Amino acid sequence: MLDKKKIKEKLEQERDVLLEELRDMGNLNPSTGEWEATPEEQDVPETDQNDMADRFENFEARSSMMKALVPRLADVLRALKDLNRESFGRCMVCKKDIERARLEANPAARTCKEHMEA
Ligand SMILES: [Zn+2]
Repeated sequence: MLDKKKIKEKLEQERDVLLEELRDMGNLNPSTGEWEATPEEQDVPETDQNDMADRFENFEARSSMMKALVPRLADVLRALKDLNRESFGRCMVCKKDIERARLEANPAARTCKEHMEA
């Protein structure tokens, strides 16, 4: 049997870490439900063009970081929701139980090793 309590703890922990990282980089837009990177602090004086370029880069970097984190957060939230379902821990391709070690390492996994997502 899977230790769902342990899996839930792990998922909640990962969710909290992801949320913290996302909040560091941006905000959840309440009207769209989308995470958006915040621009650099506006009160920093704009000294020169290089500085501007750096800030743009940082914003871009944050945006792409967030783009990677958001689907991960969605996976974790989905796994938390599905945790009590009969189908939790089964491969969505072959419906067999996902290898325990794989699920323990990544509780949000939806497939067995054989059908691992790219
Ligand atoms: Zn499978």
